[in-house]
This record gives sequence, C-alpha cells and structure tokens, in this order.
Amino acid sequence: MYDVMSPKAEEFISDEEIQECLKYAEENKNNRELIEQIIEKARKMKGVSHKEAIVLLDCELEDLNEQIYQLARDIKEEFYGNRIVMFAPLYLSNYCINGCEYCPYHAKNKHIRRKKLSQEEIREEVIALQDMGHKRLALEAGEDPKNNPIEYILESIKTIYGIHHKNGDIRRVNVNIAATTVEEYKMLKDAGIGTYILFQETYNKKSYEKLHPTGPKSDYAYHTEAMDRAMEGGIDDVGLGVLFGLNNYRYDFTGIIMHAEHLEAYKGVGPHTISVPRLRRADDIDPDVFDNGISDEMFAKIVACIRIAVPYTGMIVSTRESQESRAKVLELGISQISGGSRTSVGGYVEEEQEEENTAQFDVNDNRSLDEVVKWLMENGYVPSFCTACYRAGRTGDRFMELLKSKQIVNCCHPNALMTLKEYLEDYASPETKKIGEELIAKELEVITNPKVKEKAREYIANIQDGQRDFRF
Ligand code: SAM
Repeated sequence: MYDVMSPKAEEFISDEEIQECLKYAEENKNNRELIEQIIEKARKMKGVSHKEAIVLLDCELEDLNEQIYQLARDIKEEFYGNRIVMFAPLYLSNYCINGCEYCPYHAKNKHIRRKKLSQEEIREEVIALQDMGHKRLALEAGEDPKNNPIEYILESIKTIYGIHHKNGDIRRVNVNIAATTVEEYKMLKDAGIGTYILFQETYNKKSYEKLHPTGPKSDYAYHTEAMDRAMEGGIDDVGLGVLFGLNNYRYDFTGIIMHAEHLEAYKGVGPHTISVPRLRRADDIDPDVFDNGISDEMFAKIVACIRIAVPYTGMIVSTRESQESRAKVLELGISQISGGSRTSVGGYVEEEQEEENTAQFDVNDNRSLDEVVKWLMENGYVPSFCTACYRAGRTGDRFMELLKSKQIVNCCHPNALMTLKEYLEDYASPETKKIGEELIAKELEVITNPKVKEKAREYIANIQDGQRDFRF
C-alpha cells in the first residue's frame, strides 16, 4: 500500500503506485486537456505531484513540450536566478566491499589499484583544490568498514576544515558515503558537514537487488530509508540522486519525486538537492550492457520536469556530462556544477597514469575550473563559491523559507558576487578576471534593496583591498 508518511521504503516508494502512474502517463501522453491543466498548476511554482510530473515527462505534444521547457526556465530564473554554485568531488578511498555491478570499485574488481589517502595526502589534495579556487567539496568513498570506517571520514573532514593555504579555505564539506546508522549520521552532523548525499541508484527493488548482489548496500530498505535516518541524526540537508542508465528512467523519475514528497511530508523538509548522474564507462564497466541508456534529449527533459515538480530543490550535474549537455541542462534547472574534477583517488596532486585506474568513471568534461568559470560567465551565469547559508545556520526548512520568500536576490546574489570577486582576485586567469569584473559591475545593479547594494559594493571593495570572507 502506498503511504507517503510511512517509514517503510516499500510503502513510501510503492511499486504498485509507480506502476499505476506509469500506466496513467502512458494513457495520457497525448491528452491535451489534462496536460494543459497540469502545466497551469505548475505555473504557480509550487510543484506538482509525482503522478502529474510523469505525465509531463511522457507528454508527446510538441507545443506543450515547448511550454514545459519554458516553464522550467522560468522557475529556475525565479528561484535561482543566474547563479551557479561550484564544487569539486574529493575521492578519499576506493576500497569497497560492495558488489555494485555498475561501479568499478566493486569488491570483485581485482585489476583496479586500491588506494586510500592518508591525512597528509588529503592535505596535499585540498591545497591543490584550494589553489584552483574551490571552497566547497563533495567527499566520496567506497564502503569498507575496515579501511574507511566512520572515524577515518570524520578525521578527514577535520583535516579538510583545518587547512588554510594562502587565501584558500574549504568552507563546506558535503559527504557522499554509504548508508549508515543514526549514530554515525549524528557524528557527521557534529563534524559540520553540509549536505549528506546518497544516490538511490534505482528505486526499482528488483533491479536494485540484481544490481547490488552482495555487500551491505544490497539491502534495499536500509539504503532507501537512509535519508530518514540522516534527518533523525540531525542532518537537515540531504541530497537525492538516481543513476540514470541502470533502470527504466520513467520508473526512477517517478520514484525520486515520491522520495522528495516523502521527506517533505514525513520530515517536514524536502531534499536540499537532487543529482542526475548518468552511467559512464569505467574500469571493468561497459555502460552499454545495462541497456537503459537515455538520450541527451530525454536527459534534458528529465531535468526540466524535476525542476517543475520540486521547484525548491537545488539540482546538481557533474562532469559525467559533456560541455554540450551541461549547457543545455543549466538553463532548464541545474543550480550546481562541478569543475576541474578528478574522479581518481589522489588525482588533484598527480594526474592518473593510464594503467593505474583508481578512477570511478571517465569524465566527460575535462576543462579546468578557470575554463568552466569563464564559460559560465560568457553564457550569462554568475559562478558562485558561496557557502553562506549553511554557515549562518540557514539549513533545512530555514533555507527553504528563504528560497520561497524570494529574498535570495538580496542575499544569495550579493554573496555570489562577493565569492566570485574572491575567485577573481586569487585564482582567475587575466582573461577570466576581466570578464568577471565587468559581470560583477553589471550584476550589482540587479540587487533591489539599496542598503544591501551599498553594503555589497563596500564588501567587494574590501575584497579588492585584500580582505576575505564577507557574507549576508
Ligand atoms: N560508496 C558510496 C555509495 O555507494 O553510495 C558513495 C558513493 S560513490 C563513490 C558515488 C556514486 O557514483 C554512486 O552512488 C553511483 O551513483 C555513481 N557511480 C558509480 N559507478 C558509476 C559509473 N560507472 N558511472 C557513473 N556514475 C557511477
């Protein structure tokens, strides 16, 4: 039985409910009247249900699809403006005892070189990341209680927050590690993490069990209920994701919206972010064997429909996507992207040798952070290195309130400009700096509150004079 308020995975992600929605969407994919009604509801920018969202995703009427894309752009503009938050992944360890069929870290892979960073190596990686200009990291690790116990993760977080190299600082550490207990989530909370990210991979229980034949991750319910435990442990901001390509995309799209609805109903606050990774080639992994690959067009439509269904949730795209694909989805709803990423353990200090293969997957966008920042600005976006909300305690529902009240133009926008100014002063190439200075001058005018505008100007002048870390 479907029950959004149930603590049980199989009830808040009910297979029966998803199958019914998929059938309903199939029957109504050309139902103009119904689709127009859903679009009308979505124009209020308060979201639509999973059942309505899958009808939009399946819609085959070209003119209405155009309206869907336009609405996604409008919602993005309304809540997130033209800011794009920048981050980088940091791979701590590829030791793993799970058997995930799609991941090169799987325990049976004997030709991948296993590697775990020491605290000294983490220091070196973080300094390399700070020297690129990064302020926000996503920690990544395989699941291995012996090699990567929670104590190792906690110590690593402490190390990272403690490194201040030149003007560098990592101000927000998000964590993407395996599902764990309420006690360990409490420890992560106490260590000062930003978002706890965990990808569901697929919401289809049968496929999930096939794809995860061995190891602790094979427990579908334990994995699917992890976000409830994380929130019970005090973590306000959680990040969902599906690995597109593993299973039927319509099923997983419906599942992820249901998961968001569950968190909102059961925990009072929806997911902070949704990631949309697509399966990539990797050591020992051929994505073609999974048979569920989606086209760039469908990928873009998924992003647009998630944007419409959950307007308050940030959306993340990584360097698994090419420059071209990233350009397309940025306008449709993405609010965070990674730049200059290395997916190998230790990859920021030393570029990976071909035969070593500690990487998790092949990167599709190999540009440096400076190139990505410049490219974003040339395309009308403001790259932001802001971490203010989390540091000011604006997490969970407090963050959502700010977003809903649309006050971000007087808060996130100046913060984005100030952190961009820091980037330009400390790390940018001359050309990027020139474009950035012009952009900041132009974008300051967008701030509507005169006092905030005045203060932002003052802070930016202070940054020019060598001071750092201002925020609203
Ligand atoms: N080990 C943790 C877990 O299982 O949740 C941490 C995350 S793992 C380092 C990060 C994510 O990478 C996985 O959740 C999965 O979605 C994704 N991933 C694994 N193999 C991939 C591949 N071949 N291509 C693209 N993404 C992949």
